[in-house]
Amino acid sequence: MNFQDRQKQVREHLATSRFEALLISHLPNIRYLCGFTGSAGFLLVREDRSVFFTDVRYDTQAHEEVKGAKVVIARKALLSAVGEWIAAQRKRARGWTIGIEGDHLTVGERNRLADLLPSGVRVKGASAAVERQRMIKDQDELGRIRAAVQLGAGLFDRALEVLHPGVKEADVAAEMEYTARRAGAEEMSFPTIIASGPRSALPHGRASSQTIAPGGFVVCDFGVILAGYCSDQTRTVWVGTASAEAHRAYEAVREAQQAAINAVRPGTRVGEVDGEARKVLRKEGLGRYFTHSTGHGVGLEIHEAPRVAAGQEEVLKPGMVITIEPGVYFPGKWGVRIEDMVAVTANGCEVLTPTSKDFVAI
Ligand code: ZN
Ligand code: ZN
Repeated sequence: MNFQDRQKQVREHLATSRFEALLISHLPNIRYLCGFTGSAGFLLVREDRSVFFTDVRYDTQAHEEVKGAKVVIARKALLSAVGEWIAAQRKRARGWTIGIEGDHLTVGERNRLADLLPSGVRVKGASAAVERQRMIKDQDELGRIRAAVQLGAGLFDRALEVLHPGVKEADVAAEMEYTARRAGAEEMSFPTIIASGPRSALPHGRASSQTIAPGGFVVCDFGVILAGYCSDQTRTVWVGTASAEAHRAYEAVREAQQAAINAVRPGTRVGEVDGEARKVLRKEGLGRYFTHSTGHGVGLEIHEAPRVAAGQEEVLKPGMVITIEPGVYFPGKWGVRIEDMVAVTANGCEVLTPTSKDFVAI
């Protein structure tokens, strides 16, 4: 991981902004910029250097992990250490404006920081520059994402072994999560969704104590974290003998998903990708049952920029990794969703998820 280069990009951004320093508080951004994987820290990026603040629990770990920043171990509250470091700059800091991550620092923390700073130093919300930088994955990141996707895909094979009528959703999820840990996953990237029967119509139906019964779909949406990077995939299977209506809905979602994937290439706006999936489902008379957006970026976080949704103007670039996951949901009845992860390449995209999308009835 080239942390120096990543920080250099932030510095270039800083040079063109109205800030003298950026205070990074969002842990995935901190990890991205300097490698720290712990749960408490602030990274202060200045034009000429970076300083990383953490507490005494992370003394050894921070010195091992952090690259491109001086490590300060705080003996008191972290924000106080940040305030003191800035105050120690004395005259140099007079007139500084410190940019904070408005999406991540709480109002309480912001106010505390402002109180700790010497007079003449201001605090203002900065744009989500690091998140924008993180949209484009480098080769190291793509390698890690590929490995996470491969490991994650193996969990569906396990699901198919244990998913039968009479089995509880939670038991299927438990088997998948156990398999994930045994295969080396650090953790799940979100609580595994195994949603059967009418619960499959809930786009985010976590695995419950519901027993799986014939005559409905089961939406399986799951992912792992490996070496810090997330995977995310959905497959939907039918239990019992499927009706023509179930087949039709499934094939429509599959076609919509393929249409969106076909639109993924550099230069295309993410809103257009969303539109391609919607167009297919509208043509099939299912447009109003597709109630969420088509996808999202994935990386150090399970949901990150860009949002692949109607009206979104972000333009796809090589190195972006997004999900494509249209679905249709009939409340009280059942739902279908199919989700793959795709990487934008120089002239199109690569579907990373290896799992078949053929209709499965069990
Ligand atoms: Zn998912
Ligand atoms: Zn997703």
